[in-house]
Amino acid sequence: MRLKKVLCVLLAVLSLTAVLPLCVSADTNLKEADVSKYPIIHFTGNMHALFINEGKTIFNPASMGTEMTKREADLNAAISALDLNKALDIAIEIFWAVLGPVQMNEDGDSINKNITCKHGTVANGVKWIGRYFFNFDWRLDPVENADILAKYVDEICKKEGKDKVNMYAVSGSGSILLAYLAKYGTSKVASVVENITMQNGTSFFGALATRDMTLNTEVLGHAKEVNGKSMADYSDLLQGLYNTGLLDILERIAKIMSPVAVNKLYEEAIIPLIFQMPAFWSYVPIKDYELAKAKLGFSKTNKYAKLVAKMDHYFYDIVAKQNQILDDVYSKMKFAVRAGYGRYNYPIGHNAFVTTDTTVDTKYATFGATCALPEHPFSPLHIQLDLSCGHNHVSPDHMVDASTCRYKEVTWIALNQRHQSEYSYSGWYEWWLQAKNPTVNSNPVFPQFSVWVAANKQRTGWDTFVTQDESYAPNYFVEFFEGVWGLLLGVWRYVWKLPTIWLDLIF
Ligand SMILES: [Zn+2]
Repeated sequence: MRLKKVLCVLLAVLSLTAVLPLCVSADTNLKEADVSKYPIIHFTGNMHALFINEGKTIFNPASMGTEMTKREADLNAAISALDLNKALDIAIEIFWAVLGPVQMNEDGDSINKNITCKHGTVANGVKWIGRYFFNFDWRLDPVENADILAKYVDEICKKEGKDKVNMYAVSGSGSILLAYLAKYGTSKVASVVENITMQNGTSFFGALATRDMTLNTEVLGHAKEVNGKSMADYSDLLQGLYNTGLLDILERIAKIMSPVAVNKLYEEAIIPLIFQMPAFWSYVPIKDYELAKAKLGFSKTNKYAKLVAKMDHYFYDIVAKQNQILDDVYSKMKFAVRAGYGRYNYPIGHNAFVTTDTTVDTKYATFGATCALPEHPFSPLHIQLDLSCGHNHVSPDHMVDASTCRYKEVTWIALNQRHQSEYSYSGWYEWWLQAKNPTVNSNPVFPQFSVWVAANKQRTGWDTFVTQDESYAPNYFVEFFEGVWGLLLGVWRYVWKLPTIWLDLIF
């Protein structure tokens, strides 16, 4: 059981912090209507960069998923043999195989100075599908990455003969976008899209950072699919176990059995490999940040002082001022938020039973939507919490009330959207770049709520179906976590067997 926890840890991407929403209105007259003439910088998420040591690739995102699943058989064997120590050791080995080559030291600096980040799956500076990519080095903190971005913006402006760029930030790069805006301002920015960004944290990373390794039985009991992995083999059984209360009992057993294993996992893998890596800290919700430092043993007076100073600066001088920074953007230029809902979270942590895009809690990615619990829609009589603008901001399925989003008029939300790098949203982005004052009410083809159908195919509008965006780069981050899920599913098998094993022992 410890294993599951282990695995899950990595996945974490969501949390509860929330930026509390006041609806902000912007003076649209000041905004430039058509910004499509400016170059687009598409920020990729984590796990897109390549890392090179002496000319050799030591961290290739393409191997992430396979690295995780490669050991699934070993892990299952150990679990089947009830050799949980071995299973735990294998889990730790997997962490090292994946993240060991790029490990940072306790200062949050690279251990091996020869390792360079070779910016990624589509190299920086190369134009692909009409945009330039910015693959960031996730060993650096958001402010250091913002400095690299600032140079990159200048380089692209020069290359294209323009004075501004459109910024399209995806997932983990939201932290870098925010740090850039805080430090460099908006003078070279023509527009901003926050696409499934994580600068408000995720409940999963909050749980991971605060050692809240509770197995969340509500998530398990309801999930048919978690993070793209079908739970078909398990969901009926899980549902049954949940309904009878047995899952609860298993959760308690796990709690008793696991502290030693969890500690080992933290000391030998999670802390040295994840929390010595600055980027991962930036996915912790700000409300969990102090507790996380205390629980993980990071302070200004111990060996982690340098890393803590960097992250304190990021959290308290940048994230804490996020509303001010983004309100300023919203008042001056085109600004949009894109997010997903309707997918289950990783089943770790007390607060895991929330709607997500598999990785980021919808309430965080939308800057404050009020979301129903999975499978528990609002009453049909639900009245949206903020009625001030006179629009309807409740989703047709009564699962999301977007009236509480800070930027509710420019926040688009897709049911079932997976946490991955959508480029266009079936023509939405191209329309948005050119439209005058685009809002969720200005084009019936692109309403506030839509349905995301399959990889990179979104229904535009709640009912109509349009496909686009066939060119698509894999999302290694999600693949990586899906690999983790593969391992987790192996652990479930052990859980199922438990009652049988006991019966064998008794009789
Ligand atoms: Zn409105």
